[in-house]
Amino acid sequence: MNRLRNTDIKFLKGIGPARAELLNKQLGIRSYYDLLYHFPSNYIDRTTIYPISSLHGEMPAVQIKGKFITFSIHGEGAKTRLTGLFSDGTGTIEVVWFRRIRQIKDAYRTGNEYILFGKPTEFNGRWSLVHPEIDSPSSVTATQGLRGVYPLTETLRNRGISSRTIFTWVQTALSATLHIKESLPENIITGLNLMPLRDALVNIHSPKDNNTLQRAKLRLKFEELFYLQLNILRYSRRRTAALNGFRFPRIGHYFNTFYTQCLPFKLTGAQKRVIKEIRADMGSGRQMNRLLQGDVGSGKTLVALLCMLIAIDNGTQACLMAPTEILATQHYETISQMVAPIGINVKLLTGSTGKKQRDIIHDQLEDGSLHILIGTHAVIEDNVQFRNLGFVVIDEQHRFGVAQRARLWKKNFTPPHILVMTATPIPRTLAMTVYGDLDVSVIDELPPGRKPVETLLRYDNQRNAIYQSIGRQLKSGRQVYIVYPLIQENEKLDLRCLEEGYELIRETFPMYKVAYVHGKMKPSEKEHQMNLFACHQADILVATTVIEVGVNVPNATTMVIENAERFGLSQLHQLRGRVGRGDGQSYCILMTKYNIAKETRKRLEIMTSTTDGFLIAEADLKMRGPGDMEGTMQSGIAFDLHIANLATDGQIIQLARGSAEKILDTDPDLSHPDNLMLRPQLSAIFEKTIDWGRIS
Ligand code: ADP
Ligand code: MG
Repeated sequence: MNRLRNTDIKFLKGIGPARAELLNKQLGIRSYYDLLYHFPSNYIDRTTIYPISSLHGEMPAVQIKGKFITFSIHGEGAKTRLTGLFSDGTGTIEVVWFRRIRQIKDAYRTGNEYILFGKPTEFNGRWSLVHPEIDSPSSVTATQGLRGVYPLTETLRNRGISSRTIFTWVQTALSATLHIKESLPENIITGLNLMPLRDALVNIHSPKDNNTLQRAKLRLKFEELFYLQLNILRYSRRRTAALNGFRFPRIGHYFNTFYTQCLPFKLTGAQKRVIKEIRADMGSGRQMNRLLQGDVGSGKTLVALLCMLIAIDNGTQACLMAPTEILATQHYETISQMVAPIGINVKLLTGSTGKKQRDIIHDQLEDGSLHILIGTHAVIEDNVQFRNLGFVVIDEQHRFGVAQRARLWKKNFTPPHILVMTATPIPRTLAMTVYGDLDVSVIDELPPGRKPVETLLRYDNQRNAIYQSIGRQLKSGRQVYIVYPLIQENEKLDLRCLEEGYELIRETFPMYKVAYVHGKMKPSEKEHQMNLFACHQADILVATTVIEVGVNVPNATTMVIENAERFGLSQLHQLRGRVGRGDGQSYCILMTKYNIAKETRKRLEIMTSTTDGFLIAEADLKMRGPGDMEGTMQSGIAFDLHIANLATDGQIIQLARGSAEKILDTDPDLSHPDNLMLRPQLSAIFEKTIDWGRIS
């Protein structure tokens, strides 16, 4: 395997230094290994040749066999194109080229037989094929079955390197390397009945049939995910083994008094289960790193509070960090109110905390009399020193960077337990990969008696009716959000929409007060506008997605989302979570123009059909791919995978994780003779990406 990695591609017959450099620049292919792992994006089915007369609408790329009847050149300069009329006796198809016209015209002759491969398109009853792959039948009969079609760049095409060229090089490389060392341990291969590596590489490029192709894919996906999991798990196990954490054996006075006398409602089953999971971690003597996922409104705050009380009962302090001042203030208000009867000292620290209050906080933190500190980024400043910080809660984790979290972590000699709370539901298999070294707890149950938000899809021409129903809500004393997209690419345009929307709303509802907030405002102005709405001095809040996270105004029962088609599903779900927080029936109205694509409508209909955040995240992930998911962007994982897909290969991820766990359980250092082979492979793959899965 390392020989493959170390052999420069320029030594392959037919490549040479100039093309090697081009391949490197364009596709990142440097070695034989890179070439063999440049997998096809598609396959030509060489078993079937389609008669032109049988072509129809939505066909994938197909193979046709026949002769060119004529060639002709149209247009001039940059607009020149070459067309060839191609016939197979059952019909004709027009073949079109926009580039490399001279070379192509010289390469192909009328009267000779060729096999073309490409995706035919129909316009006014006439078929055409743009820049197809072209083979002469003699070269094709050499092998049977499917043949890989490769992702290429424009530059490569212009330099005459076609998918066919890559295929030939891959075949040359395969025949030059008859022995490819197996990269998975024998017992995994046999245990899971996987295809051996060399077979898989041969068959991923030219499988004899679809079944063989699927087996080759499975094997290569497994390999990729197995090493990914092995890396993540090994890293996190090593770290947790090295780091001792606080041991909190006691459930004491504060917890018990609160639980028996102050609990405002019965915990849900899911809340109880999660608290148990966290307690077990806190009692283990190793540092906890746990992600708490729970849909908006599932009651994460109460869970966090109960766990903070455990930490306090065991003689330490707790800290809760929120991404915005408003959120921190809201947490402070709910929590200090709840724990007031049991004499817990809670303080709020944000950017706008005055000097006097700050001094008090610093003193109380250092002498240990402050039990719970709640705040924004202000809590991680260096001059904030705890006497003994035992437990940290981070709300809405994705707003904080890894480096920021690490600063909290360094506040103590013994690292505090860390609970990261998020309402962005990440499908479990993905969380497993992206946040590899976090344990995950899920609150998958809402408190009883919640009325699900009713979600409606409406068009611009129904605006009047919508405004009427908003009017009724306002009249009964409720509040309303109106949300606009603000997307960087056309920020100016979006801002104008927002401003126009604001004016329109003011004109439509002259007797109500309208607040207005977007991300481009000064923070102080933003806070001010949000507060107007939070204290019900404003009835309507016109806003961008700045309100997405955490804002809690239970009296707001209606949300209108303008241009809903421009938001991602997970984002819509977050936004929708701002309503349905009180006892009134709430509504979320997704506005779009009448003409939306079928796909878009399908996407939005997911929103109208369910309020389950995990289902929505799952659907979002399948539609958009993992590159767009929170967390995967920063981690880069989605982009570094060759063949596995984090969105759709959940089962293989589980399988790979299970295998990696089994190996590490018995042989954490990978020093057993059977496992030694894993080491060079691991370090070769993860040279640069050792930090995957790190969270704090
Ligand atoms: P989130 O998980 O979105 O942070 P919160 O912790 O803000 O949710 O809780 C949402 C609301 O549900 C709060 O008003 C909270 O008091 C209430 N709540 C939490 N747990 C329960 C429960 N077990 N029964 C009833 N209401 C609950
Ligand atoms: Mg919350």
